[in-house]
Amino acid sequence: MRDWPREMCRRFCQFYFSCRTDDVPDGHIDGDAALAARTYVEANDTIKQWTAVKEGARQHLDDVEGVTADGIIVRWVEINKEDGPIKRIDVRKTVVQTEAGCDGAVSGETVSGGVPW
Ligand code: SF4
Repeated sequence: MRDWPREMCRRFCQFYFSCRTDDVPDGHIDGDAALAARTYVEANDTIKQWTAVKEGARQHLDDVEGVTADGIIVRWVEINKEDGPIKRIDVRKTVVQTEAGCDGAVSGETVSGGVPW
């Protein structure tokens, strides 16, 4: 009996893989749409991996505030919730200041690279 929404089944039911194996929509996807589907799955995997890396980094930043030599600011912000205040970390790279002036150029490598663990 399949009266649960598929996403609920996937997240909570131990029988999901046996119960829903034949639950595949009709139709064949190819060309740009197939590439987009593959890209979507790969992006989700990358997000999961980097979310784990980010959480590992965050654990090294408990009670840390300030700015690094290369201009990354770490601060904790208190947010008021219904059941009391919580602290949330805010980490961001400042605009890069060079000898020639402020160029604002921050590459993807600069932002994501160099994780030391
Ligand atoms: S996956 Fe589980 S909850 Fe979903 S329809 Fe099948 S048996 Fe029911």
